[in-house]
Amino acid sequence: MHKLVLATNNRHKLEEVAQMIGDKIELLTLADIGFTGDIDEPGVTFAENASIKSRHIFDRYSINCFADDSGLEIDALNGEPGVYSARYAGTHGNHEANMDKALKNMEGVTDRSARFRTVISLIWEGQEHLFDGTVEGTIRHERAGDGGFGYDPIFEPEGHTITFAQMSIDEKNTISHRARALEGLIRFLESVD
Ligand code: IMP
Repeated sequence: MHKLVLATNNRHKLEEVAQMIGDKIELLTLADIGFTGDIDEPGVTFAENASIKSRHIFDRYSINCFADDSGLEIDALNGEPGVYSARYAGTHGNHEANMDKALKNMEGVTDRSARFRTVISLIWEGQEHLFDGTVEGTIRHERAGDGGFGYDPIFEPEGHTITFAQMSIDEKNTISHRARALEGLIRFLESVD
């Protein structure tokens, strides 16, 4: 079985990915390979940040690895928060403050369209491969649900009447941006078997 490191410290992300990948690949965490630091994300695109993270790990451990970078793009806010999604309100990972800021900036705005986007950078035997995935949706006027993470309580995916935070992890995993990018990654890994 192929071993593959997922370059993230985000526990929710790891759980989602582990559930999708199942037993096709042996997924290792950063802790499994003894990496405990944080990796900066100075890029201005999702692809740039994903590459920075996967290369950071590959350069140190020479092991097959992948990283994803994701975020929310709100049309009425010219694509904000985008690559700044995690630190939109200032402090990295303060999801409540980030949602408050997004909701405040959307007050009185009728175009609620938005999307989550993920780009995965895989380094496989030294070569980089990029996979992307998006899910279209709308921004609610207030939070609903307590599952998931990040902006899930205010994002209603297209074709649904509930938010990501009201879905089970399985339901979210069948339609999410990360799931779609991961499908590309999984197809690639199946092709190299
Ligand atoms: P990351 O850089 O891929 O860790 O994602 C950056 C930020 O985007 C996260 O901290 C969340 O605020 C947001 N985000 C990414 N994926 C999701 C998701 O599936 N649901 C809600 N928020 C997300």
